[in-house]
Amino acid sequence: METSGQQFIAGKRRSGTSGEQHSVTNPATGEVLATDTLAGPEDVNEAVAAARAAFAEWSRTTPAERSEAMLRWADRLQARSEEFADTESRIGGKPIRLTRGFDIPGSIDNVRFFAGAARNLEGRASAEYSGDHTSTVRREPIGVIGSIAPWNYPLQMAAWKVLPAVAAGNTVVLKPSELTPLTSVMFAEAAQEAGIPDGVINIVTGSGPVAGQALVTHPDIAMVSFTGSTAVGRQVAAQAAGLAKRVHLELGGKAPFVVFDDADLEAAARGAVAGALINAGQDCTAATRAYVQRPLYEAFVARVAELMDGVRLGPVDDPATDMGSLISLRQRDKVAAMVENAREAGATIVRGGRIPDGPLGQGAYYEPTLITDAAQDSAIVQQEIFGPVLVCLPFDSDNDAIRLANDTPYGLAASAWTSNVFRAGRASREIQAGCVWINDHIPIISEMPHGGYKASGFGKDMSVYSFDEYTNIKHVMSENTGERHKSWHDVVFTSR
Ligand code: NAD
Repeated sequence: METSGQQFIAGKRRSGTSGEQHSVTNPATGEVLATDTLAGPEDVNEAVAAARAAFAEWSRTTPAERSEAMLRWADRLQARSEEFADTESRIGGKPIRLTRGFDIPGSIDNVRFFAGAARNLEGRASAEYSGDHTSTVRREPIGVIGSIAPWNYPLQMAAWKVLPAVAAGNTVVLKPSELTPLTSVMFAEAAQEAGIPDGVINIVTGSGPVAGQALVTHPDIAMVSFTGSTAVGRQVAAQAAGLAKRVHLELGGKAPFVVFDDADLEAAARGAVAGALINAGQDCTAATRAYVQRPLYEAFVARVAELMDGVRLGPVDDPATDMGSLISLRQRDKVAAMVENAREAGATIVRGGRIPDGPLGQGAYYEPTLITDAAQDSAIVQQEIFGPVLVCLPFDSDNDAIRLANDTPYGLAASAWTSNVFRAGRASREIQAGCVWINDHIPIISEMPHGGYKASGFGKDMSVYSFDEYTNIKHVMSENTGERHKSWHDVVFTSR
């Protein structure tokens, strides 16, 4: 594994110049994986200059040229997929089964999808709306995109930020989380190996307040694309607004999981465990609040508890491990404190709520946790936890279910479990979230948009809808009569 050089600027891997040393560690073990100097404003300047220089050529490539380069990129990633899976597992404390089966193939599929989508960029059809002019719509790349990503799915987040941007002809400076930069740098290197020109994709690894700030406020960044917490997203949006800069925000979530009394109980219980514990719960769409209609409530809680008992915590390189560690001891302690506060506020901790005994307790592990008897307005129900914690609460009427599902500031994702087509239809219409699953929770596909409502942000990742974020729409109006005095001139002046 590479131990230094976490900047990738103008096609070269090197160290940052901020003077601040930082180590990337495996949070499951504490092992130091790489130490490097973080990026400072100078590195950001250089990366933006490289992206700006590359824009002139990249923005003029044909869709077919971009597409072919991206297909070669996908092949490079495929060839190195085991190396990516291993590194992603170690930097994130993720089980190798998850990175092999989800993070890496998902990212490669994303590259292939956008290789195809690059050839389908289009404006609306043209026509003679005025009678005397032909109007056409051009869809153009914006320029240099400044992207900021979180640590929870390092490679997938890098892919979601970079792919629609470069497929549309933009160039990018991506700041990954300084906790998890290694696969982002490898991703950019693989693009270079595939023939994507130097400067099209640059990585600056630095802290949010230093490199992130420098990127957001850089005058040559045409758009800021941010994925992270709602609190930081608000700061980024405020700064972008001050500079009248375009911004795309993918923020936090607190997904409801609504189980109606006609649902398949076993399917719902399994869905809740998978949906709550994927990536140790550090998933913006994770199932966090299960609302279960009263007749099924007790049986649902009992079955979820039983299934959680069977979840195996263990070393991340063991294919038998179901759940790895959280991203850091700090994150683990934050989750533990939220659970402790819930307990003090009167909630019942049905399962977990503990740091495991033995060697795992030295890493950032936290037991799968099931909570009941929490108040709807309590912090554990309202705030993002970002850990392996599911809160379960009963409801009586369908109206209650919809009201409770919508009763947080967030609106990223939700699911409804029912065998009744009318209930499914109502839930999909009335739950305010960017994605509503029916009888499942979590699957994502490259073809479909991902993005938030309410405090979960705005704008879409993935799918052709993401091109709306990363392109400018230009109206070209071409006069067809050739007459020197146009009829509309009469409203301004009439002298011949
Ligand atoms: P975070 O907001 O702390 O950090 C996100 C990124 O912003 C990091 O790269 C960080 O260095 C940078 N940053 C921090 N302060 C900054 C500043 N002042 N200016 C510019 N950049 C700054 O989030 P995190 O803890 O890394 O990630 C977890 C959060 O991300 C959760 O809230 C989760 O819901 C959210 N998330 C959302 C989505 C989505 O698609 N909506 C996907 C994944 C994660």
